[in-house]
Amino acid sequence: MSGPDDSESVKKKKNKRKLPRGRVTVFPNWCKGCGLCVEFCPTKVLEKQGNGGSVIVAHPEKCTACRWCELHCPDFAIFVVDIEPGEETA
Ligand code: SF4
Ligand code: SF4
Repeated sequence: MSGPDDSESVKKKKNKRKLPRGRVTVFPNWCKGCGLCVEFCPTKVLEKQGNGGSVIVAHPEKCTACRWCELHCPDFAIFVVDIEPGEETA
C-alpha cells in the first residue's frame, strides 16, 4: 500500500517586512576612535577615519536602530534615534 504523495507547490512569499531604521550620530569631539562600534555594528554603518581618527557614519541608511553602539560606547559619543516608517529624511 502506498499513497500517492501530494506534490506541494512551494510558494515563495516575498516577505517585505520593513526593518526598523535608526539615525545614528557621532560626536567627533567625544569619540576617541577606539573602534568598538565599528567592529560590532552588525550592518557596518560606521567607519573609522584614518589613523586613530574619530568615527564617521559612512552608511546611515543601513542602521537598524539596534543600539549596540550607543549602549557600548565607553565615551557616550554616539547615539541613535528611531526613524518611524515613512518619516525618512536624508
Ligand atoms: S565606541 Fe564610541 S569612542 Fe569608540 S569609536 Fe565608537 S563612537 Fe568612538
Ligand atoms: S544602532 Fe546598531 S545598526 Fe545602527 S549604527 Fe549602532 S550598532 Fe550599527
